[in-house]
Amino acid sequence: MDRPLSSPIFIFHGNFNMHIGCHLSTSGGYVAMGNTALKLGADTLQFFTRNPRGGDGRIPSDEEISSLVQIMREHSFAPAVAHASYTLNICSATPATREFAKRTMRSDLELLNRFPAGTVVYNFHPGSHTGQGIEEGIRLIVEGLNEVLTEEIHTPVLLETMSGKGSEVGGRFEELAEIIAGVRLQEKMGVCLDTCHIFSAGYDLVNSPEDVLAEFDRIIGLNRLHAVHLNDSMTPFSSKKDRHEKLGAGSLGFEALWNFARLDAVRELPLVLETPNELDGYAAEIARMRAGL
Ligand SMILES: [Zn+2]
Ligand SMILES: [Zn+2]
Repeated sequence: MDRPLSSPIFIFHGNFNMHIGCHLSTSGGYVAMGNTALKLGADTLQFFTRNPRGGDGRIPSDEEISSLVQIMREHSFAPAVAHASYTLNICSATPATREFAKRTMRSDLELLNRFPAGTVVYNFHPGSHTGQGIEEGIRLIVEGLNEVLTEEIHTPVLLETMSGKGSEVGGRFEELAEIIAGVRLQEKMGVCLDTCHIFSAGYDLVNSPEDVLAEFDRIIGLNRLHAVHLNDSMTPFSSKKDRHEKLGAGSLGFEALWNFARLDAVRELPLVLETPNELDGYAAEIARMRAGL
């Protein structure tokens, strides 16, 4: 990966190998979703594994899954990101809430095992400790993951970096590292980095993106970084808020996001937009990222 900046490949292709897409709805089925991604100029995508409010949702057929995978392969997509329902809380103080999260994650991972290995990753929010304290939150997440993960799962399970608002777990790299360290089947675990969240959490992607990644590497290990949520932020640096903004319209700014996306450890990962946009807005952001500054 140590390609010198002066290499002809770099100059000719600019953002070579950049894989960028956005969050898409599964409501028309997986094939329609794949075709929508193509129309937007995307070569990765993200979708909810089920209704965001936690309902069961429609179970896709094997045929539907293989048609989506075929689209992805024909167009050299990076792995898709399957996002768990964000209302799950595997570290809630309420046992029934924790059980629901575990049951849902198990069935999500069962679904994702029907995708060929290497075509999808599973991302979830570590959760909120709801007043039990960060250490108890981390303990419950580890306990939950140890109940959910099995040898058979071939989908990487990613913890999302959070902004650290309220009692949210995952606002510090150390917390994610502690969770991973406690998981028995550690080789299944990875991280999805959300640029809006970590900037809000106090990692300065505007002035020192390399330092942030060096810190990530020291504490978690860049080999665990599987995906990026590329979002600008509506709120100022270190605000501990979670408000996504369109690229270039927020406190991070387009230049910082583009520079970040070009860094060695990031530029071949799936970059997923979760910005407040309709489809045409996503298409414009994808085109702008591909064109660069
Ligand atoms: Zn998320
Ligand atoms: Zn967010």
